[in-house]
Amino acid sequence: MLTMTDVSKTYSDGTKALNDISLTLPAGMVGLLGPNGAGKSSLMRTLACLQAPDSGQISFNNTDIQQSPQRLREQLGYLPQSFGVYPHMSCVALLEHIAALKKIPRKQAKQQIEELLTLTNLTAFAGKRVSTFSGGMRQRFGIAQALLGDPKLLIMDEPTAGLDPQERQRLHSVLIRLSQNKLVLLSTHIVEDIEHLCPHAAIMMQGAIVDSGAIPALIAPM
Ligand code: ADP
Ligand code: ADP
Repeated sequence: MLTMTDVSKTYSDGTKALNDISLTLPAGMVGLLGPNGAGKSSLMRTLACLQAPDSGQISFNNTDIQQSPQRLREQLGYLPQSFGVYPHMSCVALLEHIAALKKIPRKQAKQQIEELLTLTNLTAFAGKRVSTFSGGMRQRFGIAQALLGDPKLLIMDEPTAGLDPQERQRLHSVLIRLSQNKLVLLSTHIVEDIEHLCPHAAIMMQGAIVDSGAIPALIAPM
């Protein structure tokens, strides 16, 4: 269970991205819905310990993530909205590197990487540099690296962006299977994306959570 209490974040240029957010997310698949600029990425980067909130508390399974960020990182899979610059590493080398950062033993990592490459349809490109990948391939790579280590908390910022309908469908079934033993938070601005996937959702606008709860009740008025 993930709990946020009075979490706020204002960027140095004065943009208030998170405005006093209090929210409790149950295990399973949770959708974060909202228009562009609502603060979804800011919220997810904060949950992934990539940026500190100005105020407020966040805990995952009763551990304060700001006090124990390393403990969180070992349980976390994070798909950013867009990766920055890719190092000139092959797909498989980069996955091995990320697995090492997550402290996954080498032998286990090797097997997981093989499975994840198959899952994301990247086996044929394992030896190619990620910097040469197309948008959809990068997205699939991003999904593979997020799933390394079977994280207990999976945060995915617009996971279906850039995927074709078939890939989108495949990701949906993977996520449904995976979410059994974890909390998967995924953001989107497309209602249909989470309609069939997420029993719960939170709706975000202008840095605030304006509604949250079971999906049918939430989207009925839309
Ligand atoms: P979303 O993911 O819902 O599109 P974001 O979290 O990306 O929303 O952005 C929320 C607001 O914060 C937007 O106005 C955006 O321009 C701004 N913003 C995001 N990141 C930064 C940053 N690093 N510095 C300044 N403003 C930012
Ligand atoms: P988006 O542009 O769709 O909101 P992200 O929120 O993922 O994408 O932002 C990508 C990167 O750009 C992040 O490192 C974020 O901090 C930065 N960023 C986003 N919006 C702004 C902004 N308004 N000012 C400065 N940096 C920003």
